[in-house]
Amino acid sequence: MSEIHYRLEQKRHLAGSFPGPKSAALDARRKAVVAGGVASSVPVYAADADGGIITDVDGNSFIDLGSGIAVTTVGASEERVVDAVREQVGHFTHTCFMVTPYEGYVAVAEELNALTPGTHEKRTVLFNSGAEAVENAVKVARLATGRDAIVAFDHAYHGRTNLTMALTAKAMPYKTNFGPFAPEIYRVPMSYPYREESDIKGEEAARRAITMIEKQIGASSVAGILIEPIQGEGGFIVPADGFLPTLAAWAKDNGVVFIADEVQSGFCRTGEWFASQHEGVVPDIITMAKGIGGGLPLSAITGRADLMDAVHPGGLGGTYGGNPVACAASLAAIKTMKEHDLNGRAQNIERIVTARFTALVEELGEAGIIGEIRGRGAMMAIELVKPGTARTTKEVNPEAAKAIAAACLRAGVIILTCGTYGNVIRLLPPLVISDELLGDGLDVLATAVRLAA
Ligand SMILES: *Cc1c(COP(=O)(O)O)cnc(C)c1O
Repeated sequence: MSEIHYRLEQKRHLAGSFPGPKSAALDARRKAVVAGGVASSVPVYAADADGGIITDVDGNSFIDLGSGIAVTTVGASEERVVDAVREQVGHFTHTCFMVTPYEGYVAVAEELNALTPGTHEKRTVLFNSGAEAVENAVKVARLATGRDAIVAFDHAYHGRTNLTMALTAKAMPYKTNFGPFAPEIYRVPMSYPYREESDIKGEEAARRAITMIEKQIGASSVAGILIEPIQGEGGFIVPADGFLPTLAAWAKDNGVVFIADEVQSGFCRTGEWFASQHEGVVPDIITMAKGIGGGLPLSAITGRADLMDAVHPGGLGGTYGGNPVACAASLAAIKTMKEHDLNGRAQNIERIVTARFTALVEELGEAGIIGEIRGRGAMMAIELVKPGTARTTKEVNPEAAKAIAAACLRAGVIILTCGTYGNVIRLLPPLVISDELLGDGLDVLATAVRLAA
């Protein structure tokens, strides 16, 4: 990894009361004008961000272990991204690719076709958000197959638009009272090794899902299987080995489009460009967003040329899709990922986090609250249970997750929670975070876990 230059001092620092007076004043203004349906995990307002640090308007410096939900993989103000954006914005901010096309869009498509798994002929379309990418993957799968049904999984998260709410598993806060939802979505069981009732292997777990698909939908009605290779919001669930390849093989045998939603797991996050690669899975279509754009809103679908080109001209697109500034940022971010070997960095972070928290499990012993440490690369999670139930009833402990995140924040570390049961601490640090800063953040987290145990 070549050396990373930081603009801000990479050090946790709390200046005074928390939240400080300026954040409190902004929050009062916000409450008067911003809809209450938009919630923020942190009560402080950002002033600056760089590397693994976010500073707030009161002069506090926080360690960022969330990357704005897996977005700022290269940092929130990476030099190369900033320069590329400045350069592009001085020329044109928008022409609309559907009106007057430009090179950046084509260059991003070239990169994505090369980086995504598989050596087959591919095509790419760019959009703005992860949900929009998922919507369009479903459009392509349906049109190309002439079928309607889409299979999604327990614990899945695919977005907040109408179709993606239907695809998302969790009712609160994502779906409750927001229906009716889009039809022809079917949900089947995921492989969730920690919470399986028996020691079921990945292939058997896939067979369980496939049997349900065959019996309840019928293979010939299924347009696509949509799955996060490592589930994000659902709890950083890593399916058992063999689960994804078995599903992908079944999809192939049955003319079903296998769609990997890598919006959260893509772009070096798990120590590979895409999480599908850990199991040698080659998706027919892959959805991307979050880490793709160095912080700018950009999303994409890349898929088999025969599927993607089945769509008639004008059938895919959008006013802002593949915005030139976002494309410039994305090209710069991808270059940075390669130059700093951020896949290697993510693998290194996995080793650091695993060692640290395996030691903590031993320290806390049988009565501890850590049920499982799991994940890949810099997408690691700690699932929390009630004291002493880690190997027996595995009783979920969302209260501990909440308390730990709050304690970390008070100490100057931003940490996110997730999970169907709200009992998972998820670590998504920027991949450019220094060892020292990561170590400090993990120390704070370990202390908070001890206090909650
Ligand atoms: C975040 C996320 C989405 C939705 O992305 P938005 O940009 O918020 O619309 C879809 N799928 C997965 C796996 C995600 O993590």
